[in-house]
Amino acid sequence: MPRVTIDRDGCISCGTCLVECPDVFEEDPSDAKSRVVEQYRDGADPAEGTVPDGLAECVRRASDACPVAVIAVE
Ligand code: SF4
Repeated sequence: MPRVTIDRDGCISCGTCLVECPDVFEEDPSDAKSRVVEQYRDGADPAEGTVPDGLAECVRRASDACPVAVIAVE
């Protein structure tokens, strides 16, 4: 199952990942940056999560589309 990490410090709140993969990424209302939805978080950190294999293509697409390349998928 792919692990997803967002370097939230570098996120510019463009919203692209939210459009590409809304099952995994959402806007944090406190700072308007992207975060992993609670369902797929590894723990308390909204910047890290593990997603089902069925969402692997979607998170990779979001990672590829992020204009500042702050989404890592392992
Ligand atoms: S695509 Fe990148 S810069 Fe844009 S909201 Fe998502 S993480 Fe932030």
